[in-house]
Amino acid sequence: MILHKGVLQAKMNVPFLDLKPGYEKLRSGIDEAMGAVFDQCNFVLGEPVRALEEQCAAYCGAKHAISVASGTDAIRIALRGCGAGKGHGVITSPLTFVATAEAVNSIGARPFFCDIDPVTANLSPAAVLDFLENQCMRDNSSGFPVHKQTNIPIKGIIPVHLYGQCADMGALNRIARDWNLFVLEDAAQAFGAEYATDGKSVKTGCLGKAAAFSFYPSKNLGGAGDSGMITTDDDSVAKICRVLRVHGAPTAYDFVESGYNSRMDTLQAAVLLVKLPHIDEWLTARREKAAFYSRLFREYALKLDVPVFEASELSVPAPEQGKFLVLPSEAENCRHTFNSFNIRVQDRDGMIASLGGQGVGTNVYYPKPLHLNKVFDFLGYAAGDMPVSEKMCSVICAMPMFPEITEEQQRYVVEKVMEFLKAQ
Ligand SMILES: *Cc1c(COP(=O)(O)O)cnc(C)c1O
Repeated sequence: MILHKGVLQAKMNVPFLDLKPGYEKLRSGIDEAMGAVFDQCNFVLGEPVRALEEQCAAYCGAKHAISVASGTDAIRIALRGCGAGKGHGVITSPLTFVATAEAVNSIGARPFFCDIDPVTANLSPAAVLDFLENQCMRDNSSGFPVHKQTNIPIKGIIPVHLYGQCADMGALNRIARDWNLFVLEDAAQAFGAEYATDGKSVKTGCLGKAAAFSFYPSKNLGGAGDSGMITTDDDSVAKICRVLRVHGAPTAYDFVESGYNSRMDTLQAAVLLVKLPHIDEWLTARREKAAFYSRLFREYALKLDVPVFEASELSVPAPEQGKFLVLPSEAENCRHTFNSFNIRVQDRDGMIASLGGQGVGTNVYYPKPLHLNKVFDFLGYAAGDMPVSEKMCSVICAMPMFPEITEEQQRYVVEKVMEFLKAQ
């Protein structure tokens, strides 16, 4: 048996994320591109920024790409571009990074959370529809649904493509059309992911009225610091976003709106331009690593007699007993990009401690759903309001994942996870 004591692998360190091997391969190109920025000293919104916008638009298939200073800014600026503002409501998932709802809050709008789908962990179209039908009413004068309890008009939906997998955009877009809502993709974790509608594969960035991307270093396409991008096919949305990112000034010193200092640094664009041509190769590697993890987990589970399921094989979000492992699954019409590879186990925190002791890095996306975070107390949610999200937060765990992770590292991770589960 391969887990017999005598043949256990020696202790290894497997970091949760290692950005160095990816950088080393491109080092000379990146150094050169950065040098060129210093040659010009065009540090903000320089020519490479314009080039990056053009190439991102082309990659996604969007008419416009507007660079900004972060993914968080991309969301809040795009929200305003889509017509959301003070006193409006925006529907989103409670299982996301805080930035999604924080962006809503920061423009004076109010987040309304709807629960997630137990298989994909993405915003559930059924929950959104239930919220609109039962907690809102159609208002024929404004054209927007109004939340009955607060009288707040709902303007849009922000689906989050969590972990690198698209939300159920077909269903969400149908609901949005029927209720006169915009759809803004939070694509921060899903640059390059695809979703098939009407038999045609569409990239993130083109699956709603607008989309927000982040180039934070750990994302699919990561820079050397903070920056982000908005994509849209809508000319007027693009125009508003371009004005808002430079202090609300369509031309220099003509301030027409209260905007932001959200310009992209030229250095970020220069680095990202070197990396962008490699994105498909990295996404393919992520998918291969994910498939390898799944295969290894299944092999070990069989040997150790630990029940293992793919998320799509379950009707419940999480295991209810100790020896049990749930693997992530790819929705049928989606090309998952595995920005993170998340398994579900009952004693998640025990497993993390055990893995940590064995040199394996992990992360939890996310330990607490947003509606139960203190910052959103004022919204009045309580534990039990979003049962699927709440359960997910207690069992989900991200394994080490990056395009350069080695087979040896993956084997070690799987071995340590399965040893822990077997001992339960
Ligand atoms: C990273 C992230 C953001 C925020 O992006 P920043 O560039 O860090 O501001 C927003 N939403 C989600 C889902 C993210 O993962």
